[in-house]
Amino acid sequence: MSYRHILAAIDYSKNCKSVLQKAIFLATQQQAILSVMHVVDNLPLSGTAYGTEIDLGADVANPLLELEKSLFIEELAEFNDIDMARNLVWGVPKQEIIHYADREAVDLILVGSHGRHGLELILGSTANAVLHHAHCDVLAVRISD
Ligand code: AMP
Repeated sequence: MSYRHILAAIDYSKNCKSVLQKAIFLATQQQAILSVMHVVDNLPLSGTAYGTEIDLGADVANPLLELEKSLFIEELAEFNDIDMARNLVWGVPKQEIIHYADREAVDLILVGSHGRHGLELILGSTANAVLHHAHCDVLAVRISD
């Protein structure tokens, strides 16, 4: 049984690219479709519905969102030769990750896990919520701080 659609959820924390690198490795090995997603959750955007997808190919009216778009494109620049669906969405990370996975028939989600001490700290709140609420497999990739 192989995975058919793998999603890497990335924040911009230090070493978070290892989540994407692991997803690329697995997608290549499994011959799966690959998607990457970042959820913008640090901007107050009144009048914008949660789940709004940011078009990477068009100008964005809001300058803060435009900046987020540039950051995302820059973050992924080193992976430009990799075939993957790039998704930048405004909303609540755990909700958007799970919603995308359901909608796009993702069967494996990769999230990062920081190796902090104490069992309850091993998975952060987003990773923990995805693990408990996703309808597919979830792989927590250990990220060294
Ligand atoms: P946290 O639960 O905040 O410690 O984050 C753990 C993991 O959840 C990260 O390594 C990412 O894989 C994922 N994640 C957290 N925040 C976001 C976000 N804004 N967009 C996409 N993925 C995220």
